[in-house]
Amino acid sequence: MSEQVDDATLIERFPWVQITHDSKHLFRGWLDQKLLINCCDDCSTFHHPPKPVCPDCWSSNLTPTEVEGKGVVFLAMHLHQGSPAPDVDYSKGPHPVVAVELEGLGGVRFSSTVIDCPVEDVVIGLPVELTWIERYGAPFPVFRPRPTDGGGE
Ligand SMILES: [Zn+2]
Repeated sequence: MSEQVDDATLIERFPWVQITHDSKHLFRGWLDQKLLINCCDDCSTFHHPPKPVCPDCWSSNLTPTEVEGKGVVFLAMHLHQGSPAPDVDYSKGPHPVVAVELEGLGGVRFSSTVIDCPVEDVVIGLPVELTWIERYGAPFPVFRPRPTDGGGE
C-alpha cells in the first residue's frame, strides 16, 4: 500500500522510463503492484499504452482499471543484447521479451519479460500470468507461465 505519490516522486521512482501525463497513472499503479489499463467509460474499450482519448470513440472519459493480468504470449523475442537493466544479464543467455495479449480486454497487449521459465520455452501461445519483480527498487510487472488445465489451483 503506497499513498498517492506526487509527480516528482513518481519520476524519481522510475528514472528509466519516460513518464507522461497520459502514462503516470500506469506507473502509480505499479507502486501498488497493480496493472492499470485504460478503459473507456463511453464504449468500454480497453487500450494500452495509455492515450489521452479512446482510440475507438475519441472519448476522453477514461478510467485506469486494474486487470488480472492473465494472457497468452502473442509475440516473443529472445534478445541477445539490449539496454542494460539490473535483472538482465545477456552473458547468461538471451533475454526473453514478450507481448502478452491480455485475457478479456479485446486484444490489449502488454510488453514485458517472462520469468521462472527457460528462455527456449518462451514461445507464442504460452499461457502466462502477471507477477512482479523489483527493478531499480520499484515494482516492475513481468509474466510467468501459468497452468491451464483444470481451471483452478
Ligand atoms: Zn471509447
